[in-house]
Amino acid sequence: MIPYGRQQLDEDDIEAVVEVLRSDWLTQGPVVPAFEQALALRCQATHAVAVSSATAALHIACVAAGLGPGDWLWTSPNTFVASANCGRYCGAEVDFVDIDIASGNMDMGKLESKLQQSEQLGRLPKVVVPVAFAGRSCDMAALKSLSRRYGFVVIEDASHAIGAEFAGQPVGCGSHADMTVFSFHPVKVITTGEGGAVLCNDFALYQRLGELRSHGITRDECRMEGNSDGAWYYQMTGLGFNYRMTDIQAAIGLSQLSKLDGFLIERRMLARRYAELLAQQPLSLPCLEPIDESAWHLFVVRLSLEQVASSRAQVFERMRADGIGVNVHYIPVHMQPYYRRLGFQFGDFPMAERHYREALTLPLFPGLTERQQNDVVASLKKAIQ
Ligand SMILES: *Cc1c(COP(=O)(O)O)cnc(C)c1O
Repeated sequence: MIPYGRQQLDEDDIEAVVEVLRSDWLTQGPVVPAFEQALALRCQATHAVAVSSATAALHIACVAAGLGPGDWLWTSPNTFVASANCGRYCGAEVDFVDIDIASGNMDMGKLESKLQQSEQLGRLPKVVVPVAFAGRSCDMAALKSLSRRYGFVVIEDASHAIGAEFAGQPVGCGSHADMTVFSFHPVKVITTGEGGAVLCNDFALYQRLGELRSHGITRDECRMEGNSDGAWYYQMTGLGFNYRMTDIQAAIGLSQLSKLDGFLIERRMLARRYAELLAQQPLSLPCLEPIDESAWHLFVVRLSLEQVASSRAQVFERMRADGIGVNVHYIPVHMQPYYRRLGFQFGDFPMAERHYREALTLPLFPGLTERQQNDVVASLKKAIQ
């Protein structure tokens, strides 16, 4: 089975791990800050805080933003459940903004009208989590101007988008988001096994995030209430978590980060080739231009169901039977039973629901050969005939 995504690990990634295993530190030691610095440098951010997953990163970003009971977090329904769950961890209410069907990203027009209505109801969100679907950011400039007008914090869920750009700047640089979250799960663009990070430019936020990652504890006397008792002393100044990344993970991350640009070139070439090979099919293809604005985590096509005799489920089953590990991104979050119990219904976000009915994710990862890609295309063409 050709998977829809997978890690590319080489001998040097393995060597980097072995080196840590022979060193004095296994959990957070010198490699974690080295990885954080490299990450911040690559993304032109001032600070990076590496954590155990993007889910943990989203959680502490929401806590650092001050999100709590009585507050609202809004996100896209076309995402993985973690983009919404972070609000629930904080005891906040979650709501969604429907997507633009062409990009799969939050629709800025719909966001603006929902903000206007919510202002009248006194129910403005404290946090908005845009999701860079498949590796391409939404219109972050429009989002930023709305955030100024309505006073919400922007936490970009860029789990798909490390190495992507918006308006000529790297995603994570902080020009348009207060905090940016990356995932280093093995199917994502670079991996640390499990892992994630929050990037920001604000020093106070950075300090908060660092403490939240490790039990809410500080060893910095300037951050303490009263004086330090001595060199052994630490204080827990707020309630935090154990969301630390290990040096073992950071070593993989540091090694992977040095290969990010190569991975991106390969992903972009494969995306362009898919677009060429699939140009005449009854499909909607992802927007290709500008090619560098996406990290191409996923290549999602939408079936033109009125021109295809089969359902998406049939196309999916036929391709799986051919050994092609197609997937579906995403089941709209509001359709999950947990969110339905909070009051959401089918029909609430029709574009996300339509996207779900039509979407099919084709295999895309560094190391996917042209021959394998030809097999994917042949199988898809046969399946939709
Ligand atoms: C993968 C993913 C996450 C969660 O990442 P983990 O590192 O597995 O916690 C969150 N949001 C989106 C959009 C994702 O794709």
